[in-house]
Amino acid sequence: MGKGFFEVPIAVNEPVLGYAPGSPEREAVSKTYKEMYNSTIDVPLYINGEHIATGNTATMSPPHDHQHVLGTYHKAEKSHIDQAIATALEARKKWSQMPWEQRAGIFLRAAELIAGPYRAKINAATMLAQSKTVHQAEIDAACELIDFLRFNVQFMTEIYHEQPESTSGAWNRLEYRPLEGFIYAITPFNFTAISANLPASAALMGNVVVWKPSDSQVYSAKVILDVFQEAGVPPGVINMVMGDPVMITDTVLASPDFSGLHFTGSTHVFKDIWQKIGTNIHHYKTYPRIVGETGGKDFIVAHKTSNSKQVATAIARGAFEFQGQKCSAASRCYVSKSIWNDVEKYLKEDLASFTMGSPEDMSNFITAVIHEGSFDKLASYIDQAKSDNNAEIIAGGGYDKSKGYFVEPTVIKTSDPKYTTMCTELFGPVVTIYVFEDDTWEETLHLVDETSEYALTGAVFSEDRYALEMGIKILENAAGNFYVNDKPTGAVVGQQPFGGARASGTNDKAGSKLNLYRWVSPRMIKETFVTPTDYRYPFLG
Ligand code: NAD
Repeated sequence: MGKGFFEVPIAVNEPVLGYAPGSPEREAVSKTYKEMYNSTIDVPLYINGEHIATGNTATMSPPHDHQHVLGTYHKAEKSHIDQAIATALEARKKWSQMPWEQRAGIFLRAAELIAGPYRAKINAATMLAQSKTVHQAEIDAACELIDFLRFNVQFMTEIYHEQPESTSGAWNRLEYRPLEGFIYAITPFNFTAISANLPASAALMGNVVVWKPSDSQVYSAKVILDVFQEAGVPPGVINMVMGDPVMITDTVLASPDFSGLHFTGSTHVFKDIWQKIGTNIHHYKTYPRIVGETGGKDFIVAHKTSNSKQVATAIARGAFEFQGQKCSAASRCYVSKSIWNDVEKYLKEDLASFTMGSPEDMSNFITAVIHEGSFDKLASYIDQAKSDNNAEIIAGGGYDKSKGYFVEPTVIKTSDPKYTTMCTELFGPVVTIYVFEDDTWEETLHLVDETSEYALTGAVFSEDRYALEMGIKILENAAGNFYVNDKPTGAVVGQQPFGGARASGTNDKAGSKLNLYRWVSPRMIKETFVTPTDYRYPFLG
């Protein structure tokens, strides 16, 4: 930037559209859904701006309609990954020198394309690929993604404004260089916004990226790629590869130019990759940045003074929206004995009113879980709970994969606060309840803190400020996103930066400046105006 101190538009959160019957947005998304459902696409690798069809393909189907084929995608060989790395490094020569306002222009344009001409398409693709209801698609694929793109541009300029003091004799300048090498982005199935943001946030800061989306999200990842291309991301800056995750990752990590991992997914995968990076450490030209947001075992703990209707609503929404497949979804709840009967009544009423089926029918609140592996795992935990003496299924418990991977929203009540489903991340529409004695609030808070290896999200409910204060204090390290009298899901970019610690990740807070700092390597430049010519200081006489 040489000819002006440019200001970017002030970022504002994209309004969530309602999709009420008869609304234009509902008509648009329904029409697009039908068109996409009734046609097929072929998704090639995307390397150096070119579409590469390898011929080694896999099919894509909606989780709620698994015999229906939406298209195919192509899988990479090792040589394609080498090619993606080489092309990214070549693109880096120009991209890393591109003035920031040009990068800002590209990603702001991407935000507007999604807000306007691509909105129905990216939402319909997310409904089809990930089986999201239209509301869940709208808050993810449209609004959260638009927010990531707009806010990150603003955060980038705020970072660039952070400069050291200077004196009249020396001018100090901090330059926020992109990392030397390339970034590897690995993305999960469950959020189209995360899938786009992991490569885009690094690229916005001047980096080049090899991006591996989840097999279960390629269909909507293709729309992201189309948007990036139309917005003007130059060839080679973001390269998308699909295929065997181990082969792709091993090939990427073997490159001496690997300089950063931007990962979201499950904890064990992240730990394995971290270990591989450690093993390769002597080969790298620079210490790779490792950013990973991973699993959760997110809690709601309700004091005897809480409003039981509010607690039930928080469980109904927090545990079951998107079938509990949010990293932030409530999956273990601790409810004080004196309010439990009311909470149970309201929760059962809510569950009885849920309808389950295809997202195309917009009256459905619950759709399918992502794939057969997830379905089978959930079914096995439900069956186990049916036979265990210390667990009881008080709502749901049914499942059926004949047409789609449908698992009924299920509530398990347990007498054992360390019961397996109180500790293990299931990532589905199953919540476990433990009812505690009213006078054991403090012990229960310690129990919540000590039960899980994760620390992603959690919520405390109470009308008593002393009880809330105790919860906030004792659970200080139990959640990176902590909610008071609210459900533990639904973080909004720019308002609630998101991420957890312990086994839940590096807590680099997506949707904030903190994340973007990880993708720059500052260079300090000191320029002296009148350079000394005599080494002697006055004290030497
Ligand atoms: P996943 O770990 O199965 O897959 C994530 C990505 O890793 C995919 O691209 C996948 O192909 C890849 N992968 C899988 N095995 C790999 C391997 N051995 N080596 C390299 N890459 C590999 O996760 P998922 O099912 O897509 O997503 C659900 C998980 O993500 C849950 O654990 C959830 O809590 C977590 N998640 C966390 C956050 C957060 O912000 N903390 C957000 C979304 C999802």
